[in-house]
Formats: sequence, structure tokens, C-alpha cells
Amino acid sequence: MSSTAQIGVTGLAVMGRNLARNFARNGYTVAVHNRTPARMHALVEEFGGEGEFVACESAKDFVAALERPRRLVVMVKAGEPTDAVIQEFAPLLEPGDMIIDGGNAHFADTRRRERDLREQGIHFVGMGVSGGEEGALNGPSIMPGGPRESYDSLGPMLEKISAKAADGSPCVSHVGPDGAGHFVKMVHNGIEYADMQLIGEAYQLLRDVAGYSPAEIAEIFRTWNRGRLDSYLIEITAEVLSHVDAETGKPFVDVVVDQAEQKGTGRWTVQIALDLGVPVSGIAEAVFARSLSGHAALREASRGLAGPKAKPLSEAEARAFADRVEQALYASKIVSYTQGFHEIDAARGEYGWDIDLGAVSALWRGGCIIRAAFLDRIRAAYDARPDLPSLLSDATFAQEIADAQDDWREVLVAATRQGVPTPGFAAALAYYDALRAERLPAALTQGQRDYFGAHTYRRVDRDGSFHTLWGGDR
Ligand code: NAP
Repeated sequence: MSSTAQIGVTGLAVMGRNLARNFARNGYTVAVHNRTPARMHALVEEFGGEGEFVACESAKDFVAALERPRRLVVMVKAGEPTDAVIQEFAPLLEPGDMIIDGGNAHFADTRRRERDLREQGIHFVGMGVSGGEEGALNGPSIMPGGPRESYDSLGPMLEKISAKAADGSPCVSHVGPDGAGHFVKMVHNGIEYADMQLIGEAYQLLRDVAGYSPAEIAEIFRTWNRGRLDSYLIEITAEVLSHVDAETGKPFVDVVVDQAEQKGTGRWTVQIALDLGVPVSGIAEAVFARSLSGHAALREASRGLAGPKAKPLSEAEARAFADRVEQALYASKIVSYTQGFHEIDAARGEYGWDIDLGAVSALWRGGCIIRAAFLDRIRAAYDARPDLPSLLSDATFAQEIADAQDDWREVLVAATRQGVPTPGFAAALAYYDALRAERLPAALTQGQRDYFGAHTYRRVDRDGSFHTLWGGDR
């Protein structure tokens, strides 16, 4: 077999198949392989007309079909299958070749794989891909990590197949060494969880406090989507809310079981944040909200618990309330991104990654689920000041929150009065208030710790570590 393919994709389920088609549509010759060859044949049969594919039945054929240095994209189920595929292909490769894992790997696995393959001179690129099936085909947001030199050879191809931001720039750049790409993809997903939770809370407030119907709320979201909240998630929310179930004629949202599922990247974001000591309370609340929704028996057993009496709003009050919810949603969103970027920043320190936070926000501007006009602003904030301690330290964001805060607080008062759960909005506001507080009750916590465990404390007026001999006969 002659080595004519510039890139190869193994693992041809929805993601791999569409990514292979995307490469082929962009003029690359693509070697295609799948553990079960039927999938590979189906791809070539159905989409062979879209470009040049080299059908490969065996791993040996696949490797032989690739130009050197070989670029081999793995799009299989994350976890053990990825290790199995690496074990199968690595012995067939030569120094300088690249294995590119586009699955949703845990970044710690990516670090391990990169370390192991480096010993053989193989470049391992852990590559986050966002945008789902549609993005893989028409342009995803791509977050490649791994050795810098791998990007010299791979980058131009990724730039061609990636989504493009509104200014035409590709939504891909080298994120950083070893697991940095998968880490950033993980945080992207964590932010996605928080964004979705906040949108969900806004919806429920508009429904339960303001009394709007799903169709009316869809219109409100459409209006918001023309402003600063312009984003893919707000856009699809309006679509989902205006959708009517064909069978019953009811709003679609009312016929769906209200138990949210999850695949795990949101949970990872929170677990790693706990390890890094980074407060990502908004993302954590979003993960917990999904968990809570799934506890059907617990919810059923709690149905009779007392709540406040609902107080209907007048039409004018409802309109004013909707404007306030927009402010609360926007302010909470700023906090979610602040927390997510803090986690990436902490990982830079922990793993010695040189991740450019402005570049990360730039590559999320198109193709991915959290794409939003707002990301241009984050990029501008980091470009203006790469050492920004927090997004909240950016003068523009700080001013926007200052302008929104009265409404944000009012929304939470209304939510509390009417008994509408808003853990995302509340956690975001608590984070904001905690950061700006002159003094936190952490001083009291330290006193308690010293009292019961002689854990010592530091003083505000002099250096050192202190312990008080507490009274009583403890
Ligand atoms: P998937 O259902 O996660 O995986 C199916 C693919 O994995 C098939 O090609 C299957 O081969 C292969 N596979 C499973 N076990 C294997 C093994 N032990 N050895 C070799 N191949 C094995 O497919 P997907 O939804 O297309 O996702 C692919 C990757 O992209 C996953 O890591 C996923 O997390 C990630 N991802 C998915 C999305 C999305 O929206 N779906 C978005 C971003 C990233 P057979 O055909 O032989 O069974």
C-alpha cells in the first residue's frame, strides 16, 4: 500500500466518522479504520464521494497508508478502549509519528500516555474536541495539547477543519504540554454545565415567579440573544422552549422527564477543582442540581414539604422582573467563567503549563457548546492584562456586575420568597460577595480549629503562628 494519506482516523462512530469527513472535505486524503471494519466500509460507501478516503481493514494497513510523520487520530470510547488502541498502534509507529487522542480523556490519563509514548519518541497529542457530532463535521472547537513541535505539523490541518470565529480566525491553537488540552476541554464542559444550570434557573424564575408560558419565555430568550447574552446555548434554549410536542400539543419541555443526566466531565471539573483548592461553586452547584434532579424517590418523598405561597406578578411587574433576571443571568455567567478560568490558571501553576488564558477564550468563540459573543470580551480582558488575577478584576466586567448587582440581589430575594430553587445564581452571588468582603468568618473558623485541635492561627498584626491556651478542662 502506498503511503498517501496525510491523516488517519481510527474509531468511526459518530465523532470519528464526521471528523474524517471534515478532513476529507477540506482536501486531505484520510486513512480510515475501525475495530469493526463494517463501520469503515459504511463510511467509504456512503461518503466516499466527499473526498479521498483510504479504506484500511487492519492496523498494519492503516499505519502503512499514512505519510510520515504519521498523524493518527484516535476517536474511540475514552478510558480502556483508548489504551487498547494505543497499545495496538504504538509498536507499529516510528519516532516523530503522532497519536492524537480526540476522545474525552481524563487529563491525568493523557499525562500518563504522553509520558509513556515520549520514551518511544512518539508525540502524543491529547486533543479536546467540542461541538458534538455537528461540530466534528462542520468545524469544531479544538483544544490540542502535547508537544509544541507536534503542532507545527498538525496545526495547519486542524486550523483548516476547525470552526472559525466571527473575525475569521480558527478556533484552535496549541493549548500547552501533555494533558493541557484535555484539561481545558474538561473546564469547558464544566462551564457548559454552569451555563446550562443558570439558563435553567432563569427559565424557571420566568415561569414560576413571572408566570410566563414556555413560548413567551422563548421570545424573551430570543430578545436576550440579540444582546450581550448572544450565545449558542441561549439560542437553542429558545428553540427548545418554543417546541411543541406533536403527540400531545403540550410544550415539549412539559413532556420531558425532569431528571438531567451527565457523562462525567462536569464532575471531573469539580473533583479536580477540589484537589487544586479552587472554588468553582457555580459548576459544583450545576453538577449537584443534575444529581438532585435524578433522585426521583427522594423528590417524591419531599413533595408535601411546606413552601411559601406564590404571589402572582402584574404584567408590568413581570416585564420588569424579566429584565432583572437578564441582569442576574449575565452577572452569574461572569462569575462562572471567572471560576473556570481560575481553575485553568491553578492548573498552570500545578502542572507547569504555559496556557494563554486569552487564547483559550478565543478558541471557544466558535464551534463549541459555550460559544458566545461574550468570549471576545474575556479575550480582550486577558489580552489587555495577561496576569489578570481574576476576570472580576477586569474594569469592564467589574462595572457590569456593579450595574447588575441590585437586580441580581432582587431576583434572589424573589426566588427565596417564592421558593424557586436558584443554586447557581445564589452561589455566584455568594462568591462575588465573599471575594469583595473586607473580613470573612474564616477568622472564626481558625479560632475554632485552634480551640478543638490546637491547629494554630496567624494574626493580622504580626508574623508567626499562634496558639491560645483555651480555658476549661479540655
Ligand atoms: P463512542 O460511542 O464513544 O465510541 C465508539 C467507538 O469506539 C467505535 O468506533 C468503537 O469501535 C470504538 N471502540 C470501543 N471500544 C474499543 C476498543 N476496545 N478497541 C478499539 N475500538 C473501540 O463514539 P463517539 O460518540 O463517536 O465518541 C468518540 C470519542 O469522542 C469518545 O471519547 C467521546 O467521549 C468523544 N467525544 C464525543 C462527543 C459527542 O458529542 N459524541 C463530543 C466530543 C468528544 P466498534 O465500532 O468496533 O465498536
